[in-house]
Amino acid sequence: MFSTKAIELKSAAELACLRRGAEILSEALAAVMAAARPGSATLELDRIAAAELSRRKAKAAFLGYHGFPASLCVSINDEIIHGIPSASRKLREGDLVSLDLGCIYEGFYTDVAVTVGAGPVNPEAARLMKATREALDAGIAAMRPDGRLGDVSRAVQEHAEAAGFSVVREFVGHGIGRALHEDPPVPNFGKAGTGPRLTAGLVLAIEPMVNAGGWEARTLEDGWTCVTKDGSLSAHFEHTVAMTAQGPEVLTWHGRRP
Ligand code: MG
Repeated sequence: MFSTKAIELKSAAELACLRRGAEILSEALAAVMAAARPGSATLELDRIAAAELSRRKAKAAFLGYHGFPASLCVSINDEIIHGIPSASRKLREGDLVSLDLGCIYEGFYTDVAVTVGAGPVNPEAARLMKATREALDAGIAAMRPDGRLGDVSRAVQEHAEAAGFSVVREFVGHGIGRALHEDPPVPNFGKAGTGPRLTAGLVLAIEPMVNAGGWEARTLEDGWTCVTKDGSLSAHFEHTVAMTAQGPEVLTWHGRRP
């Protein structure tokens, strides 16, 4: 599963750049989150994301990536990831809405995702959102200097499964920096004590995708939208996180600046 290619560690100067990019990205995401209300077309959210990045001199990372047609991914209810914004798709009250955004700033990529409710959501959806956010937090908390990547994967999986949910296998997190997807892959499942060492300078996009039902996924005919095979709800949270000598530094944030 893990690549044997070299993992690129970031210098202090590169980390400073990633920090600034992550700040821009998080501010743009906050604007999108504020607009994710019942009645909003998903394309409006995309337009907001694009405008917020552009006025901060950052480029949308997903637009044109392998031909993806938008700046933002909007994945609703049983959609796991890669939902394509559309003018005709309007959020409905109770929708579970995953918003995934990436940017390029001064040559460096950062990546963030959050799941929000369009208005109030049902108790199962609320529990799924909470468990997925906590699974991400548990993965980050497992990043200890000289620990292994498998510690992160295991912590995410354990938290999600303890809540009675399952983690998607087909898509994983990734290293990030001069490219959107760098080594190493960061699965949301695995074994503690295995995989690459968590060396200072390692920068990861950790992104649990958690399904209320089974972990299996399928891709729709648009070639992008990935949904749960059993039609169950799915949630997605992601942070760009740098490993430092002292421990993890979370570069992105969700909604309110920490
Ligand atoms: Mg990502």
